[in-house]
Amino acid sequence: MADIIKLLPDHVANQIAAGEVVQRPASVVKELLENAIDAGATNIKLIVKDGGKALIQVVDNGIGMSETDARLSFERHATSKISCAEDLFNLNTKGFRGEALASIAAIAHVDVQTKPENAELGSFLKIEGSKITAQDVAATPKGTSIAVKNLFFNIPARRNFLKSNQVELRHITDEFQRVALVHFDVAFQFYNNGSELFNLPKENFRQRIVHVFGAKMNERLVPVEEETEVVKVSGFICKPEFARKSRGEQFFFANGRFIKSPYLHHAIGAAFEGLIKSEMQPGYFLFLNVDPKAIDINIHPTKTEVKFDDENTLYAILRSTIKHSLGQFNVVPSLDFEHDNNLLTPYSYQGKEAVVPKVTVDARFNPFESKESSTVRTSSFKKKSIEGWENLYTDLDDKDNSFSSVQFESQIEVPDIFEGQEEDIKTNQIAFQLRRKFIVTTIKSGMLVINQNRAHQRVLYEKFLANNEVKQGVSQQLLFPLTLEFTGPEIQQLKQFHEHLSVLGFIMNFGKKQKVTVSGIPTIMTETSIGTVFAELLINNESEVTDEEVLSSEVLIAKILCRTLALKSGQPLDTTSQIALVNDLFGCEESKLDPFNRIIYTTIETDLIEKKFI
Ligand code: ADP
Ligand code: MG
Repeated sequence: MADIIKLLPDHVANQIAAGEVVQRPASVVKELLENAIDAGATNIKLIVKDGGKALIQVVDNGIGMSETDARLSFERHATSKISCAEDLFNLNTKGFRGEALASIAAIAHVDVQTKPENAELGSFLKIEGSKITAQDVAATPKGTSIAVKNLFFNIPARRNFLKSNQVELRHITDEFQRVALVHFDVAFQFYNNGSELFNLPKENFRQRIVHVFGAKMNERLVPVEEETEVVKVSGFICKPEFARKSRGEQFFFANGRFIKSPYLHHAIGAAFEGLIKSEMQPGYFLFLNVDPKAIDINIHPTKTEVKFDDENTLYAILRSTIKHSLGQFNVVPSLDFEHDNNLLTPYSYQGKEAVVPKVTVDARFNPFESKESSTVRTSSFKKKSIEGWENLYTDLDDKDNSFSSVQFESQIEVPDIFEGQEEDIKTNQIAFQLRRKFIVTTIKSGMLVINQNRAHQRVLYEKFLANNEVKQGVSQQLLFPLTLEFTGPEIQQLKQFHEHLSVLGFIMNFGKKQKVTVSGIPTIMTETSIGTVFAELLINNESEVTDEEVLSSEVLIAKILCRTLALKSGQPLDTTSQIALVNDLFGCEESKLDPFNRIIYTTIETDLIEKKFI
């Protein structure tokens, strides 16, 4: 048989390697930024067009390259960073494989300008699909500029596989943040389609976090610092009350490199145990410094997964360090999710001194008399709410007064969210709250158990739709327009759905310096909820789960708005409000499903209850 094995030509080998190194524009961004850092740059500029599909350019003021080096840097396995295998165990640079530039050049059009500090003139190179197509001298400042255009121009299948510009930009922003966070001593600028997303001066780590994630971050951070023989841990964690549902703000940097480690992530979760609800995610920005010999970053080509020699010890140290910080900075609140006092105290009462409730005992009370006269009154007792099922308990109060200090869930005074509707409510209707989550009421065939949060979402949603049908964007003008500050990417997102927001009744003006002035809001909203609503919309548009549907329609935004504004589980409701909510729900066109198509209530038939007593 004839020999059939051939060596692949370089450009084919490069294309194959590129498949591993370059998955999407964000991978190119990562490699170019890391090369700039390795080149000792103190100022790095990232310029992106059309989610990186049209252009990704990184300009640095690092050491630059000689003409020969510039040509060589695009060869495969060409690197200045290691020269023998031992060097692999003592890495101080981001790169070391010498594959990135060769891979990128195999699948894009690349322009390079570079000049070492002491050279008179720099060099210019043009490379298309691994071939150098132009070369010249260039008058250029010290440092390197690499522009990558038309990514995947020669692999249409890969190009078609890319997501929308918006989603690709989100991936790029994630990579940018990872590099920018850890190299806070380097100044960064990031432009997308001509507008500035980030402008970060040289600063300290805390300032960098705040610059990247917005001023609101500052009050949330708790410092972490611990040095043991195995590892030095430093950085910040977020206070438990700022835990979020999405995984946005979780960063481990091992020896200056962003890493993903589900195992170590778990250690943080363990330290936060009991402080945050299980579905919530703690925020953290942590540096782990270990002996370079004790860490293997070579196990994955894109290098976010690493292997530590002694992971178990690391886990234990991390967990106790975080616990210690939480305790030391006194941020372990006495949180009890079944009974969170913040939820119970009406806003106007917060911070005021507690007054012992006055208890009046009806001296004429006689348990053997007819029901009408047997009433126990506490200061928060409403006339209406003692009718019905609560009477079952009234005669327990005979011997001592302790009972009168017990509050039923349904008796706790809360601001009346359904003000002015009392007249409509039939006073003989009964309802009570179960675990501050469900409203239980009766119907002909038995019992109705309603999820209060979902019910309220539905009610708000239909109100909202009704308003919007009458006139597009019914809005209430704010007496004092509110100015809010956002980060660069947040402003971009808000601009993207600005049009939808105006249809829904928001009146917004984009000012200078990432500020937005809100002068009108939808009628179903109150002014105090503006901050929460915007935060929620931005979180929902975030793409840690990147390929999810972005907020592209008014309907979706409206649903999220209602979800944000709706009564939460855990919110106590007085009987009047409970009944009003039930009536509102059954006045809706669709009362079975909430705006996200989840069931709102279930019934328990009397027959079923009867059977339990056989
Ligand atoms: P690696 O980073 O793994 O060494 P790359 O393909 O990313 O491999 O880069 C190859 C070489 O090109 C680097 O080792 C470095 O010497 C040089 N190089 C790349 N980017 C720059 C830059 N921005 N400034 C100076 N030198 C660079
Ligand atoms: Mg590199």
